Amino acid sequence: MATNYKEELVGVLGYPVAENPTCVMQNAAFEALGLQWRYLTIEVKPDALPEAVRGLRALGFQGFNCTIPHKVAVMALLDEVSPDAALIGAVNTVRREGDRFIGENTDGKGFLRGVREAGFEPRGKSIVVLGAGGAARAITVELALAGAANLIVVNRNIARGQALVDHLNARTSSQARFMAWDKTYHVDETVDGVVNATSIGLYPDLDSTPDVDLSAARSDVLVCDVIPNPPDTRLMQTARSRGFKTLNGLSMLVYQGTLGFEMWTGQPAPEAVMKSALEKAFAA
Ligand code: NDP
Repeated sequence: MATNYKEELVGVLGYPVAENPTCVMQNAAFEALGLQWRYLTIEVKPDALPEAVRGLRALGFQGFNCTIPHKVAVMALLDEVSPDAALIGAVNTVRREGDRFIGENTDGKGFLRGVREAGFEPRGKSIVVLGAGGAARAITVELALAGAANLIVVNRNIARGQALVDHLNARTSSQARFMAWDKTYHVDETVDGVVNATSIGLYPDLDSTPDVDLSAARSDVLVCDVIPNPPDTRLMQTARSRGFKTLNGLSMLVYQGTLGFEMWTGQPAPEAVMKSALEKAFAA
C-alpha cells in the first residue's frame, strides 16, 4: 500500500494565543494513538475571523477550538450551534459533520465531568460560583442543566453578575441569586460546593486568592478552582489544609480537551496521556 502522508488538521484560533497549552495534550494524544493528525496553534486577529473560518473549511479542518476573543463571534460563522452552547452564548469547540461546522461548548461539560468524578452530583445542590465571565457562564449553565437547585453568583461587576443570574432564572430551572462581591464573601452552611470561576490566582498572579471565608462552611463542601496553571492555587492549598475536598482546574481543561478529541476523531481519548502532557508543560 502507498504511504499516506496526508495529515488531518485541527487547532485553536485565538488572539493572543501563544500561551495556549492545548496543542501539548492534543498532539500527545494523536501520537499515542498513532493518528496522522496535527493540532495547530493559530493567531487570528478579531477582524480576520470570518476569513480564517472560510480558510479552515477550504483546508478541510476536522474541527477547531476557539479561545479569547473569538468564542462569541465564531457562532455567526457556523452552520449550527448546539442548544447548550447557544444557552451559554459561546462556542469553544467546533466539530465537522460532512462539510458542516457545528459549534459546541465543552468548558462546562469538562467541569461537570471533573466534579462528578470527584463524587459530587450537582442535582439538587446549592453551589456558589465566584465570577460571571465566560468560564462562570459555561459552568453555571451546565450545573443548571444538570439539575442544581440553587446557584449563587458572586461577582465584582454588578451588571455582569446580575445579567448572568437573570439569564439563568429565565432559561433554566435552577434558582439563581446574585451577590455583589465588594467585601469578603462568607460561605454558609447551606452551600454544597464553591467554584472559583474568576482569573484570580492565574499564573503569574500566584499570591492572589479569592476573598472568601470558609469558616462557616460544612465540612463536606467541595471547593473547586478553574485555574489550570498553576493547578495548586492558594485557594486549593487553603481549602485542603482546612480539610475540604478540592478539585483543581486541570481536570476541566483536560476533559474539555478529551471531549473535543472524541468529537473530532470519533475515538476514545487517551486521558492519562493528555493529563500528563499538560502537567509536564505546566511544570516546565
Ligand atoms: P473573563 O474575563 O470572561 O471573566 C473573568 C472573571 O473574573 C470576571 O467575573 C471578573 O469579574 C473576575 N475577576 C477577575 N479579576 C478579579 C478580581 N481581582 N476580583 C474579583 N473578580 C475578578 O474570563 P474567563 O471567564 O474566560 O476566564 C476566567 C478564568 O477561567 C481564567 O483564569 C481562565 O484561565 C479559566 N478558565 C479555565 C478553563 C479550564 O479548562 N480550566 C476553561 C476556561 C477558562 P468582573 O466581572 O467583576 O470583572
